[in-house]
Amino acid sequence: MNDVESNPRGTVKAAGVSLKDLRKSYGSNEVLKGISLDVAPGEVVCLIGPSGSGKSTLLRCVNLLEKPNEGTIHVGGFEATDLDVDIDKMRRKVGMVFQQFNLFPHLDALRNCTVAQTKVLRRSQAEADKVARHNLERVGLGHLADRFPDQLSGGQQQRVAIARALSMNPELMLFDEPTSALDPETVGDVLAVMRNLAKEGMTMLVVTHEMGFAREVADRVVFMDGGVVVEEGVAEQVISAPTQPRTKEFLRRVL
Ligand code: ADP
Ligand code: MG
Repeated sequence: MNDVESNPRGTVKAAGVSLKDLRKSYGSNEVLKGISLDVAPGEVVCLIGPSGSGKSTLLRCVNLLEKPNEGTIHVGGFEATDLDVDIDKMRRKVGMVFQQFNLFPHLDALRNCTVAQTKVLRRSQAEADKVARHNLERVGLGHLADRFPDQLSGGQQQRVAIARALSMNPELMLFDEPTSALDPETVGDVLAVMRNLAKEGMTMLVVTHEMGFAREVADRVVFMDGGVVVEEGVAEQVISAPTQPRTKEFLRRVL
């Protein structure tokens, strides 16, 4: 799969992802049992499934935080298991947002969004500030750039975390249950930011239990259980008319 310079779905540069027969074990516990999944540039895929089914492990493999035992991972023009690949360059294409936002508590929102820019991308402080301010505006927090994490609500902190990831100019965004740790009243603002990002044409792989979001924003939904993809398809179809018993059972519990 190649880099896409112009994105027919939107305005941002977006990379595709291709996973082929991915396997990952921890000791004798095989957590991913041969996962194949393609996400086109600009596509939004929601990954759903019960706790322990391997969703986070899958995202960590895509982000190269985990090394799969078998299989291949392509992101943009890069192949992770290629010995010649520049792993740092490949990793930079991928932004990740976690359930726990992991902001630096001693830095204000702006600095949280500039640290990696200056350290990793070697941008000047002035340039990094400019990019950070742009992205804080993008998530609706331009006016709170000088607030520290403990002066922000959970939803605001998560939006800073999204702005921080976007400040590295990723071509693919991974979200691992980004709203699961939030007070209900702040969930909507975070989902709205993600909805806008999808509209701009960002490639997104999102682990979520927010079925309303999945139905409305995702192009496809993938249901995982026990380390395999049990069912996948158009979001509306998988959510409203699942064909597999395990998918039906799961949806009955979360809807
Ligand atoms: P999910 O995100 O779907 O809840 P995970 O990917 O977190 O699932 O976990 C899948 C399985 O892998 C679980 O049984 C979990 O205990 C195991 N697991 C995840 N990470 C590790 C790790 N670093 N070491 C050992 N086992 C792990
Ligand atoms: Mg998880």
